[in-house]
Amino acid sequence: MPDLLNTLRATLLMGPGPSMVAPAVYQAIAKPTIGHLDPVFIGLMDAVQDDLRSLLNTGNTLTLPISGTGSAGMETCFVNLIEQGDRVLILSNGVFGTRMAEVAGRLGAEVDSMDFNWGRPVDTQQVAARLGEKKYDLIGVVHAETSTGVLNPVQQIGELVRENGALYLVDSVTGFGGIPVEIDAWGVDAFYSGTQKCLSCPPGLSPVSFSPRAAEKLQNRKTKVPNWYLDLNLICGYWTGESSGSGGKRAYHHTAPINMNYALYAALREIINEGTEAVFARHLKAHQQLVDGLEDRGLAMLVTPCARLPMLNAVKIPQGVDEAAVRTALLSEHAIEIGAGLGPLAGKIWRIGLMGHTARPENVERLLTALDSVI
Ligand code: PLP
Repeated sequence: MPDLLNTLRATLLMGPGPSMVAPAVYQAIAKPTIGHLDPVFIGLMDAVQDDLRSLLNTGNTLTLPISGTGSAGMETCFVNLIEQGDRVLILSNGVFGTRMAEVAGRLGAEVDSMDFNWGRPVDTQQVAARLGEKKYDLIGVVHAETSTGVLNPVQQIGELVRENGALYLVDSVTGFGGIPVEIDAWGVDAFYSGTQKCLSCPPGLSPVSFSPRAAEKLQNRKTKVPNWYLDLNLICGYWTGESSGSGGKRAYHHTAPINMNYALYAALREIINEGTEAVFARHLKAHQQLVDGLEDRGLAMLVTPCARLPMLNAVKIPQGVDEAAVRTALLSEHAIEIGAGLGPLAGKIWRIGLMGHTARPENVERLLTALDSVI
């Protein structure tokens, strides 16, 4: 029987995630596993929370990584903040907005969805008109729509949400670590991300942050959080020693994925050491290099320049090209992964990721050269 691990080969990950993992992150994962209540691990948990607050530009006490991928972060926000009959508005222009509406609906919320064209940003004038007509308990939007490559105007939407009085929920699974996130300045009340995109970690954790308003809503729930594993009242007993009724002592809730937290710690340190401005500039530079190279080859981008994400590039498939064959050849002949389109964009676009450690000129060059030989 062959050892399947020996059949793995290094692939240049240029799809919608996971992205390339930084060497320092791999080294961190390989460190010895220690106990989840070991004082050294508790020190690392505190450091992860501090670094998350610093990179998310927030003073939110309730800021921690949920054990699970980005979808666990999404579920965490909804199960903790939604009760039966709550009025929820989702501003949707891709797969992940649609998923938000699905998750809220399963919790018995009254969900309205404003659907915008896939490939275009949320239209703030239409949102303003809707919010003038109806009050909501929670309004959700995706910052960086991975299914289309669109950057949504989360700051402007935040101003409208504040006037409406709703809690503001933002998904930045793909944005965090590649473009600025300003939780406090944008008035974001609930936020989640994921480790496998611009943080350049393997998938497995989902940083979440709740504002004091969101924490108050959680405390004043009429009903218990309907999911035990993701109940932030209980999780905070472990991560902060609060709400545990144990006088600040950390209480066991579930066994934290120890080595993934080492990885997140190392990944956040990498970004802090490089400097956020330099990290964002590196993403933009790689994006521009890719767009220039694709346009030189006659390929066109799906999204208008002012709404393009640097880390997720949606490229229109030229007529007569077998898109799946190109992806297969890139992977098998060049060990490069790019992504396919989803939903209505399936067969119409490729999704090329420049996330975190992937966003480097040599990777863009390697992909462009490979495309020359397979298209
Ligand atoms: N939200 C967005 C914007 C995403 O891109 C993804 C994953 O690609 C998710 C949520 C779900 O994250 P995961 O697949 O890590 O559960």
